Amino acid sequence: MNIKAPLIMESVFILIAGLVYFITGNDFFIFNFLFIGTAIAIGIFLIGNGYEYGRNLIMLVVGSYLLFYVSILGHESLSLSGFWYYLFLGVFEAAVIHFLIAKIAGPFIFGRGWCGYACWTAMILDLLPYKTPNHERKNWGYFRYILFVAIFCFVVSLFIFKMNNLDEIIFYTFLIGNVIYYIVGIALAYHLKDNRAFCKYVCPITVFFKLTSYFSLLRVKVNNDNCNGCKKCIKNCPMDVDMLNNSRKRENGTECILCLKCIHDCPNNALKL
Ligand code: SF4
Ligand code: SF4
Repeated sequence: MNIKAPLIMESVFILIAGLVYFITGNDFFIFNFLFIGTAIAIGIFLIGNGYEYGRNLIMLVVGSYLLFYVSILGHESLSLSGFWYYLFLGVFEAAVIHFLIAKIAGPFIFGRGWCGYACWTAMILDLLPYKTPNHERKNWGYFRYILFVAIFCFVVSLFIFKMNNLDEIIFYTFLIGNVIYYIVGIALAYHLKDNRAFCKYVCPITVFFKLTSYFSLLRVKVNNDNCNGCKKCIKNCPMDVDMLNNSRKRENGTECILCLKCIHDCPNNALKL
């Protein structure tokens, strides 16, 4: 029974909770980060002890908490539009802190761990039947950049045109945007037979990840002495990563969501974090 990894994870979140409380003076962040850290630690403990759906469980608990409790009940838009909005207002609260930790600074350490363990869009997409992509990767990734720029321009225009009720506009943008994301994500998954098609081609948040997760401290690496070249890992990877190449320039290297499927599937124990 390995409890080292869960304890490390819990400790990291205790540290983050203390640091953010120290900076903001807001005790909500102690509860927030302890809740998320404990959910992730329990999930990692379950995964480490052979529970196949541990990662899905973490995503459902953390993703639902962030979506329903923090965003909808708390009326705090944790989306990209909310991030720009609160950043431009100079409000250093939930949305900005969330982006800084999970999506901008954090990926230097844990890459796209957000996408594998906390995203409320992917928590639903990962329940669909196409866990292993069943199509050649499309050249559609440019769409994420268009959406990223469009969201940025939308928020800027709200300020330029001095719109009233900005808080309400951003909140309803968040709600409507998420409904659209679910519809598009599910439709794409069924159309391409790939649960993570939305993450590969549409999600605008990945523009941040593309820059930072390249340097991620946590990466899957191969031990070539153990690998027999069966490529089962590559075939089963939901994000089309070439994890048999240890270089940072490996194909789709910034796409890894640290789901650990390749590590578990390898019959020769040739992969590790
Ligand atoms: S790519 Fe976007 S939708 Fe997919 S898991 Fe990451 S944040 Fe969520
Ligand atoms: S299968 Fe391996 S390389 Fe692919 S996303 Fe999961 S952890 Fe990353």
